[in-house]
Amino acid sequence: MGFPVGIGGGANESLHNRPLADQYSKDTSMIYQHRLLSQAGSESLDLPVGKVVCVGRNYAAHAAELNNPVPAEPILFMKPATAVVSLENGWSIPTDQGDCHIETEMTLLIGSQLSKANEQQALAAILGVGIGFDLTLRDVQTQLKQQGHPWERAKAFDGSCPLSSFVDATGFELSDAQLRLTRNGELQQDGNSADMITPVAKLLALISQQFTLMPGDVVLTGTPAGVGAIQAGDLLEAELNQQLKVECRVR
Ligand code: ZN
Repeated sequence: MGFPVGIGGGANESLHNRPLADQYSKDTSMIYQHRLLSQAGSESLDLPVGKVVCVGRNYAAHAAELNNPVPAEPILFMKPATAVVSLENGWSIPTDQGDCHIETEMTLLIGSQLSKANEQQALAAILGVGIGFDLTLRDVQTQLKQQGHPWERAKAFDGSCPLSSFVDATGFELSDAQLRLTRNGELQQDGNSADMITPVAKLLALISQQFTLMPGDVVLTGTPAGVGAIQAGDLLEAELNQQLKVECRVR
């Protein structure tokens, strides 16, 4: 995208004064804001959209399905804020770079700054829990892995991180959350956070040793088995613990 850079009068100044949404392209799927669901409905949160920190191979069955060894410590990578789109509003996938896989993950919305935290502090910083899709250009990733290169081209592209609205983390059972994905009516992923290799509290504490987490950042906690390619037109239904159900159609 690239916002205009400039100081002083003229066209640049008036552009800077325009609301952020206007500076994006006309594609409304680019406009995303964190939302919290409550019994009263859905409200947008006054939080920036920050970075997304992800963990690879956090479920042994998923590592096995891609013939990957289970790592000794979590494999961490990031997606930038520009990767985030609204899951519920529908989104599109790249069609010219091989298979695009869907990985359905429990997501954590960070509500307060977290740096070099212990597990207790880490849990206290979680504001919301939701569902995210870690979209992955699998053929591109395979090539990058073979060459020993970073994964960003396969994992961090625009639109690679559809995020649902969040439910309040207070009282949410993070260590026993059932996560399901149905694609065109067929169950494709069905896992439980109890099977995470690195559970949520430890994962967040570990991440915060390396990367300071800021309010508005999101953590994707890894995918259970059952990842696979998706196509434009697919109807996806995802569910977390029967507390959150979302549905969307891939464009
Ligand atoms: Zn993932």
